[in-house]
Amino acid sequence: MNSYAYYNGKFGKREDILIPLSDRSIFFGDSIYDAAIGSYDRIHWESEHVERFLSNAKRLGIKHTFTKNGLSDLLREIAVKSMLESYFLYFQLSRSTPNRVHSAVGASSSLLVTLDPIKIEKSPHPLRLITTEDLRYGYCDIKTVNLLPAVLSATKAEVKGCDEAIFVKNEIVTECTKSNISILIQGRIITHPKSNRILPGIAREHLLAECKSIGVEVIERPFTKEEMMEADEILITSTTKLCRRADMIDGVSVGGKSPALADSLCNLMYEDFANFCIK
Ligand code: PLP
Repeated sequence: MNSYAYYNGKFGKREDILIPLSDRSIFFGDSIYDAAIGSYDRIHWESEHVERFLSNAKRLGIKHTFTKNGLSDLLREIAVKSMLESYFLYFQLSRSTPNRVHSAVGASSSLLVTLDPIKIEKSPHPLRLITTEDLRYGYCDIKTVNLLPAVLSATKAEVKGCDEAIFVKNEIVTECTKSNISILIQGRIITHPKSNRILPGIAREHLLAECKSIGVEVIERPFTKEEMMEADEILITSTTKLCRRADMIDGVSVGGKSPALADSLCNLMYEDFANFCIK
């Protein structure tokens, strides 16, 4: 199965879709994006992904003509054309101006969509993480393509044989490069509150809902690196990972003190996806 793409009305193989220099994502990272997983014409957590995307476009004043239903229909149409059974769907809305000028007055917008094959597995190995200083700016709650600190930190993690990097700002754990992080302590889940320091992850929201459904108390407050290192379990959530345990941070064994609860939360998140796939 091949990757597939779409740009402003043109459909085709990923390598055949070219982006013009008028697209301001190239010079300024002036664009928002979202990412989901799906199967044939169905997109997992579609409504939340499309809503977050449109709300981010509105917050940054990116002009477009999409309604929520119209964009969902288009994404599904592209997914069907891709003929991918199981895919990672990326969609990006960037501003466009004829020249490289900082001001975006009068800019129009461009929609880019890519689909790549993906396989979501049940209970893969626990994650190994590193910590890194959170050097990002004050728009972390908006999913924009300005991802340099995330790129550098994710690279550092991979070079060290790890899966993710955890951002720490003044001893407070915020999130990871492409996932949210929560800790379990004495049967309660603690996670950074929504603010401009973290992306309001859709998987994070589902994890908290699963916790509430099985009577696990949810506490949304900042937690320190020290608390994380001592926590009963560390849980990482994202659209593609769903929910995964971590067992190593900066080369030190962590978690593993409440495996039954951690596993049941991860399983609930996976079952939700498995049910979506067979519907
Ligand atoms: N935090 C960051 C910085 C991310 O980039 C992502 C996903 O890409 C997440 C958290 C997880 O968000 P979601 O659960 O919506 O995939």
